[in-house]
Amino acid sequence: MIIAIDGPAASGKSTTAKGVSRILRIPYLDTGSMYRAITHIVITKNIDITQPVELKILLSDIQIRFEIVNGENCIFINNENVSSLIRSTEVTLFVSAVSAIPEIRKSMVELQRAIGKENGCVIEGRDIGTVVFPNADYKFFLVADVKVRAERRLVDLEKLGETKSLDDLMFEIEKRDLLDSSREHSPLRQAKDAIEIDTSLLSISEQIEKIVKHITNKE
Ligand code: C5P
Repeated sequence: MIIAIDGPAASGKSTTAKGVSRILRIPYLDTGSMYRAITHIVITKNIDITQPVELKILLSDIQIRFEIVNGENCIFINNENVSSLIRSTEVTLFVSAVSAIPEIRKSMVELQRAIGKENGCVIEGRDIGTVVFPNADYKFFLVADVKVRAERRLVDLEKLGETKSLDDLMFEIEKRDLLDSSREHSPLRQAKDAIEIDTSLLSISEQIEKIVKHITNKE
């Protein structure tokens, strides 16, 4: 079974998708972490993504895999566990530019389809219901008020030891949404047949329950 969860930045996709995956016992796939991992490599290796040759070498050299470490789903790129590094502000500010490149998207979408088809998955991102799995069994699109989303991101950043003002975070989130929804290839868009859930006033367990109920009531 493929359950697609899309939505803008910090709309609650990851926490919800992880919860649904745990309850329904279906693997979880965070596609944003894949674009973030590539962005991390682009930054650390100083790769010029506007140069086709550099892009080709980058894509032929990278290997992405997921592994559970201490109960957490971790992402490895070329055998390095980058799960924490990819949450940095530097990566967050640059990821939309990297993920807009068609060659990078093509390579990631192939990998996402292969992982998803293996055992089914609860898969979250921006283009899952529209491009990666347009025939997904269930499609959800999460939205939330930008202030609520910034407050959630603030809590995540504090865990990483970073501080930022709420206004800066709201600005960054809106900018990233604009870049993600206005790009030419696979923009952030709600699939016509996706169910929209506004998480602004919902607790995490309520978000999860809404999706689980929808799926189990239909079976
Ligand atoms: O979900 P998360 O905020 O970690 O995603 C990081 C970035 O990865 C997004 O802002 C977007 O640019 C890109 N992304 C994408 N397509 C996806 C998932 C994420 O372009 N399916």
